[in-house]
Amino acid sequence: ASTGVPAEPRPARLTVLAGPTAVGKGTVSADVRERYPDVWLSVSTTTRPPRPGEVEGVHYHFVSPEEFDALVADGQMLEWAVVHGRNRYGTPRAAVEQRLADGVSALLEIDLQGARQVRESMPDARFVFLAPPSWEELERRLVGRGTEGPEERERRLETARVELAAEPEFDVVIVNDDVHRATDELVRVMGIDPVSAGRL
Ligand code: 5GP
Repeated sequence: ASTGVPAEPRPARLTVLAGPTAVGKGTVSADVRERYPDVWLSVSTTTRPPRPGEVEGVHYHFVSPEEFDALVADGQMLEWAVVHGRNRYGTPRAAVEQRLADGVSALLEIDLQGARQVRESMPDARFVFLAPPSWEELERRLVGRGTEGPEERERRLETARVELAAEPEFDVVIVNDDVHRATDELVRVMGIDPVSAGRL
């Protein structure tokens, strides 16, 4: 017999996707956007100028450094970081909290510094590390064009070594050997059936 107690709602989960530079996080999140439009992907705020084809409010919220300062001072960033020593990127707090309050799962694609901040403030989130198929492959993606001098090349490789060492901090590791496959694994981790949702 029913006790009249409502069933527990399925808990909304926050999933954080991070990983080393050049591993393909942006490609995987673009694939999520394209093939899984029902997945709610946080739109970050950045001080970097838009690239051709990027749309305000879809790929990023593009703001001035002064606007970014004001958002941080006002406590509106769930996390933020300077990425590649240049521009600032942050996750607007209100949109994420609203989704979780509505019981909708949310996905953040952010850098490792940002992931560590979210780990502090939202320890119940699920942390996914996107890993390269091999060190050689990451090296190829990082220095592939060979347009940098030896110092810049060494600096990038050293950064990549440090970033790869963060893997044990994460709950789940997904190898980016194939973008569609990695995306499907990611949405499966989020509790979405990749076959029925993504490949009809
Ligand atoms: P891009 O400028 O190529 O779009 O992104 C550069 C880097 O910024 C990527 O590694 C991406 O993960 C990171 N990023 C994008 N949005 C955020 C964010 O909201 N917070 C943090 N911490 N990093 C972000």
